[in-house]
Amino acid sequence: MAMLDQFEQSGLAWLWSTDREGRLTYISPSVHTGAADFVGRPLASLIETDPGNPDEGSDRPLSFQLSSHGRITDLVVRLTGIAEQDARWWALSGQPRKQADGTFEGYSGYARDVTSEYLRKREDSRAAEFDSLTGLFNRHRMTRRLDAVLAAFRPVGRCCGLMMLDLDRFKHVNDTMGHPAGDELLRQVAERLRKVVGERGEIGRLGGDEFQVILPDMDDRGRLGDTAAKLIQMLSQPYVIEGKRAVIGASVGIAVAPHDGDDREALVSAADLALYAAKNGGRGQFRFFSADLKDDAMERSALTHDLREALGRGELELHYQPVVRIADNTVVGFEALMRWNHPERGTIPPVLFIPIAEESNLIVSLGEWALREACVVAASWPESVTISVNVSAVQFAVPGFVTAVAGALSASGLEPGRLELELTESVFMRDSEAVDETFAALKGLGVRLALDDFGTGYSSLSYLRSAPFDRIKVDRSFVETCTAKDQNSAKIITAIMGLADALGMETTVEGVEAFDQLEVVRGRGAKLVQGHIFARAMPLDDVNQRVASGALKIEPNGPKRHRPERRSVFRRVGIIHEDHRYEAVMRDLSRTGARIDGLLGVPVGTSLVVDLGGGQLAISHVVRSKEQVIGVEFETPLTTDGSGGVCTRHRVPPTALAAAAATGPTTAPRFVEVAVPGSRDRV
Ligand code: C2E
Ligand code: CA
Ligand code: CA
Repeated sequence: MAMLDQFEQSGLAWLWSTDREGRLTYISPSVHTGAADFVGRPLASLIETDPGNPDEGSDRPLSFQLSSHGRITDLVVRLTGIAEQDARWWALSGQPRKQADGTFEGYSGYARDVTSEYLRKREDSRAAEFDSLTGLFNRHRMTRRLDAVLAAFRPVGRCCGLMMLDLDRFKHVNDTMGHPAGDELLRQVAERLRKVVGERGEIGRLGGDEFQVILPDMDDRGRLGDTAAKLIQMLSQPYVIEGKRAVIGASVGIAVAPHDGDDREALVSAADLALYAAKNGGRGQFRFFSADLKDDAMERSALTHDLREALGRGELELHYQPVVRIADNTVVGFEALMRWNHPERGTIPPVLFIPIAEESNLIVSLGEWALREACVVAASWPESVTISVNVSAVQFAVPGFVTAVAGALSASGLEPGRLELELTESVFMRDSEAVDETFAALKGLGVRLALDDFGTGYSSLSYLRSAPFDRIKVDRSFVETCTAKDQNSAKIITAIMGLADALGMETTVEGVEAFDQLEVVRGRGAKLVQGHIFARAMPLDDVNQRVASGALKIEPNGPKRHRPERRSVFRRVGIIHEDHRYEAVMRDLSRTGARIDGLLGVPVGTSLVVDLGGGQLAISHVVRSKEQVIGVEFETPLTTDGSGGVCTRHRVPPTALAAAAATGPTTAPRFVEVAVPGSRDRV
């Protein structure tokens, strides 16, 4: 007994026992000053386990353990109602007491103080679960969490949203302001992420500038899209770091279990693909995963493979588009534009293959080839005619770039002043010193520099001031809308002309197709124009013929007025009515409704379901009906898909769809399906 007393009084351990209902019948007084009042109260209400306990298995509720009447071994607990910093942690053990006939009578046990070892262990495991820089969860923890959530949700059909997030231009900040600044930026990013996501999800940093958010029970694409847009908006606000301002952006890819994948690997790769598409779609966007993205990815990898061989097989070719001085309709130069004649697919447009070439670094060899080829071709032209060659930012950034330009000039004998390199603002997304050096070296060679696609980038003005451009190329998008009533684009064109003048730069206006556009840009001060109204890009033979015969005048030729291209939607949809499914064609789609072609005899007021594919079912009411075309209104408006399209907020899981399809129709169809013209040859 003396030993027991000592044990109890040491404060390092205590003894306890309960009755069969789990109420305390004894507890060592040393456990707490108020221990005397504990007797008679349920043990489970006086102590608690730690939700942050790194040991799995110990997170089963204490009441559950007690009610199972089994043995309790070293369960880490603390007294309830004590502040975190004062809490002592106890390893609680207990033996069930049984009567001779085996009836449970209660527990007897002891508990020992494990505070310091437990806290150390918890600290260590936190270090292994947390990203020390931002305090967010690390990749390891996110992987485990996602596995656990999906495993728990799968059998009960719960859903889970997953966002992958990547910062745009983070590297730029890191390179220009230094790593400590980059670290500080990441900490601020984490803070903003926490603010937006709050209690709804778990945020992790996977490494670098890549983040992940797990959003359990979230499948509403309206809310997911709103959250993503909010994240992007928050992260794009300026940061103050070491007294300086920094601006970055963010792109988000979103996938939802079980629709887009029901295990971690599938879901993560779906969200990754969506992120990739978001980044490619022009940064600062979010994108939902869709099956099309998977096809795109496969297509891309096939094309990358083919592109590796293309140059060696002579499948690449340069076409040349004239640049015309509109005062006298004379060609003053040509822009070289790359064409890929794929043996099976035919001509692949550069907007498709240039990004692929950039991603795989193939652009470096393609670009050098274009430079050499264009210089050789141009060297045979009259001296008054210049050549413009596009240079990708990837190509601009490789150390051998200036040497390659010099090589192309000397090999062809072309006078450097006749070569103009077209660069886009993306060349500035890099260490600014290296960029400045390259610019200086190019100027040293005597070539001319043009800033392409002006007006579409981030902050054109500051770049214009900092780099020695000879020319600004006004982006096609302004010309396309310059005849619109609101005059906004026309005003922008005027402003760019004024700016170029003030900076002593020349301009070229791209994409003029119609006479009304030509007149607007002429009125706004354009001198040089490149566009279909004069000529499209033409093959080398045509150019050489033209140049050799001295036919350097081109009369404008095109439509009087520019008509914006009307893109009619043409998409197959299913119409579900009673237990029938009809095939039809969707002509128009907005958030609130659609126009659907191909069903006869549908009265106004009919309720039906439009199957937009991929589990997207929209409950709809027919509000118009004329012959085979109906107009429907959706019961719940659709939501934006992040890429200019719309989608349903919720989706029906694939399993439910399969089950529904398994039960065939039992009634006669009410409506008649009719063929829609053109539906055979277009998908
Ligand atoms: P870009 O440098 O802005 O080239 C102008 C694009 O506008 C060309 O498209 C040209 O055919 C098109 N265009 C010219 N006038 C009109 C018009 O009146 N109406 C319309 N609708 N389009 C017009 P293209 O040849 O398809 O090239 C697309 C882009 O691919 C180029 O845009 C450029 O960024 C890239 N690219 C083409 N060749 C090369 C190359 O050799 N190297 C690199 N790095 N990029 C290239
Ligand atoms: Ca260009
Ligand atoms: Ca351009």
